[in-house]
Amino acid sequence: MEKKVRVRFAPSPTGPLHIGGLRTALFNYLFAKKHNGVFILRIEDTDQARYVSGAEEYITESLKWCGLTVDEGINEGGKYGPYRQSERKDIYKKEVLKLIKNGNAYYAFDTSEELNDMRKELEKNNSSVRQYNAATRGNMKNSFTLSKEELKKKLESGEPHVIRFNIPENQELTVNDIIRGKVTVNTSQLDDKVLFKSDGMPTYHLANIVDDLSMKISHVIRGEEWLPSLPLHVLLYKSFGKESEMPQFAHLPLLLKPNGKGKLSKRDGDKMGFPVFPIEWKDPKTKETAAGYREDGYLVEAFINLLALLGWSPGTHQEFFTIDELIEQFDLKRVGKAGAKFSHEKAKWFNQHYLKEKSDKELAELFLPILKQKGIDAKKDYVEKVVALVKERLVFTNDFWNQSAFFFETPETYNPKVVKKRWKSDTPKEILKIKEILDKIPNDNFNTASTENAVKEHIITNKLNFGKILNPLRLVITGTGGGPHLFDIISMIGKDETIKRINKGVLVFSS
Ligand code: GLU
Repeated sequence: MEKKVRVRFAPSPTGPLHIGGLRTALFNYLFAKKHNGVFILRIEDTDQARYVSGAEEYITESLKWCGLTVDEGINEGGKYGPYRQSERKDIYKKEVLKLIKNGNAYYAFDTSEELNDMRKELEKNNSSVRQYNAATRGNMKNSFTLSKEELKKKLESGEPHVIRFNIPENQELTVNDIIRGKVTVNTSQLDDKVLFKSDGMPTYHLANIVDDLSMKISHVIRGEEWLPSLPLHVLLYKSFGKESEMPQFAHLPLLLKPNGKGKLSKRDGDKMGFPVFPIEWKDPKTKETAAGYREDGYLVEAFINLLALLGWSPGTHQEFFTIDELIEQFDLKRVGKAGAKFSHEKAKWFNQHYLKEKSDKELAELFLPILKQKGIDAKKDYVEKVVALVKERLVFTNDFWNQSAFFFETPETYNPKVVKKRWKSDTPKEILKIKEILDKIPNDNFNTASTENAVKEHIITNKLNFGKILNPLRLVITGTGGGPHLFDIISMIGKDETIKRINKGVLVFSS
């Protein structure tokens, strides 16, 4: 019988989740859903020194925003819990003692000075070995070199020590990765990694394997940076006698800078003006805020679509995917080995596409809270009409206010460049004339066509220049140049407000 698909996203709460981490979560989620499997969130917090408060909540909130619903995890519970490694200490201790017992792990008492001396000595002798392993462990202070009595005494007196993995000497080991195929390494190149630290906590390697086994993980889908650890992990499964329960592995390609040169970092984002985090992160220590896709006005659909194509391709020309389409088409075999270049332009393009796809009603719902935050209590059908007029100009949801503020409030300030260019000494006279014309239109007939016809007729009859009238008129109405059709704006804000804005503009520019 096929093993039930159970995958886990296993971040360490050491800071905000990079978009690369979120892509790992997404691929795990897609794989789980495609195979009717289970998506698990496990928090790997064994490294107390790197723990950052708030990081765990950040991870949960990011997954929630992205709609990646967790089936089992720190908040959801489940029958293989607890799902936070710091709550599983006893389990690791028990497991590592099994390895001591079957000879696959051993105690080591070397101090950090002694370890440094060892490294220096190896360097000095130009040795090809630089690790703590079969070649060197015989010269160090550990279960192999100490007598039984000495070892017992040291353990009983509580002398600080670690537990190391006993890597077999000179064995050819072949490991398999779904994306990369088979890789063979010689075990003599590996290090007797520490499995249990002197602070009584397991290391990542031990905890990770113990948990993947006990949580019955079927596939480990994670970032490429863990590929070098794969031989060690495979050996650990073997040492536990659990090779048959070992999950399959898939290591996802790195996310690269837009120019393809090196890993995508926060610095790249800062320099080029795009976020590298899903949601905003406030550093608890420095109090600095790092930008997030959510707060920068990205739609989650666009964000997910963008992430999905970073490393995976459908093998067709399709570029836009709903989450259901992604689930249906996702295949680890179509994840590439080569690093995936991040493109900010593409990110914007996706967002614009998804914004345009939304109905005016949906967008109005999205914008109402933004207006509310500004203290504007607008009617939904009014917002819908505004949306219809400005939609084409939006790339981000955050652009909405910049593009439409004048539909909701009288301009406070006027774009100085436009003022300089459009407001001439004879403008007030011309504009006051327009005011008179608009004032004559009855309230119940004050609409786009009636206002436009009246103003244009006046310009034509008096052989005036269209630009000389319409540009300053737009300036007093909107505070700037450009934007939706001027008479649509005039008709939307209504007669009283139009007259008020003309008066205000004339007053401001004449003083
Ligand atoms: N805690 C590791 C990380 O933060 C998880 C690696 C894995 O998935 O095995 O990336």
